[in-house]
Amino acid sequence: MSALIIDGKQISADIRGEMVNEVAELKQKGVTPGLAVILVGEDAASKVYVGSKEKACVQLGMYSEVHRMAADSSEEQVLALIDKLNNQDSINGILVQLPLPKHINEKAIIDAIRVDKDVDGFHPESVGNLVIGDDSLLPCTPAGVIELIKRSGVDIAGKHAVVIGRSNIVGKPVAMLLLRENATVTICHSRTANLEEIAKQADILVVAIGRANAIDSKFVKPGAVVVDVGINRLDTGKLAGDANFESCKTVAGHITPVPGGVGPMTITMLMKNTITAAKKANGM
Ligand code: NAD
Repeated sequence: MSALIIDGKQISADIRGEMVNEVAELKQKGVTPGLAVILVGEDAASKVYVGSKEKACVQLGMYSEVHRMAADSSEEQVLALIDKLNNQDSINGILVQLPLPKHINEKAIIDAIRVDKDVDGFHPESVGNLVIGDDSLLPCTPAGVIELIKRSGVDIAGKHAVVIGRSNIVGKPVAMLLLRENATVTICHSRTANLEEIAKQADILVVAIGRANAIDSKFVKPGAVVVDVGINRLDTGKLAGDANFESCKTVAGHITPVPGGVGPMTITMLMKNTITAAKKANGM
């Protein structure tokens, strides 16, 4: 048996196709969704991510501002920019590219973003809203995981979902979203005993560990949906997921590849959040 491949590139392209139309309709009504991205410093990967976000905005016909700040910018300077963007009507979403230089307090920066413009979904109030089931902007990668599962025709309700990883940006919010979709959710982490045994009970297995090929077919129940969030750069320069794709696909029913699975969804969901924020800001 070989698993069906969940094509994140295609699903992402489908969603962007839907969003192009939505943005065009909004613009006809005088609303242009606007995203501001703040990049502090010269981190190579961050520069690439910010460039991709800018490009996605342009492709969808949205308004985009990128604020590139020197690596030695002070926390006060970044906070002052956030304050300005919080009060700027043309901006519906604010994203501060992480990681920030060490002298800047990441929490203070995230806390300063207005909740209704928090398109990364990392503000404590956004997290709280997610947990209690109130309306909020959802963190992009976790929202992308749910969208991939749903658009693959897999019903989440009633399934046993096992999430491996408990970070604030992936594991915990993915688990909360799966719970919201009525899965029975188990969260595993580095201190979990019998990981293999628990993972093998999963109908839906989400892997967000941050270690290349940490999971293989021994961890996968026959027919399970495997969603691999991991992005690891190997010594060869190639990208690998946290799940060993070749091994897991012999047992799984559905599986996401790396690259081309969860990765493309993150920016797509960021665009979706910006559109949602723009509609809300305009009473739509
Ligand atoms: P993290 O390092 O913050 O968290 C890793 C989690 O894995 C921790 O909760 C830890 O308890 C758990 N863990 C570590 N070793 C384990 C083990 N041996 N067994 C079980 N659990 C273990 O990482 P993160 O930020 O959550 O990211 C996870 C992966 O997802 C990384 O590869 C990252 O690059 C990737 N990622 C991808 C996207 C995207 O696709 N856009 C976005 C964010 C993160």
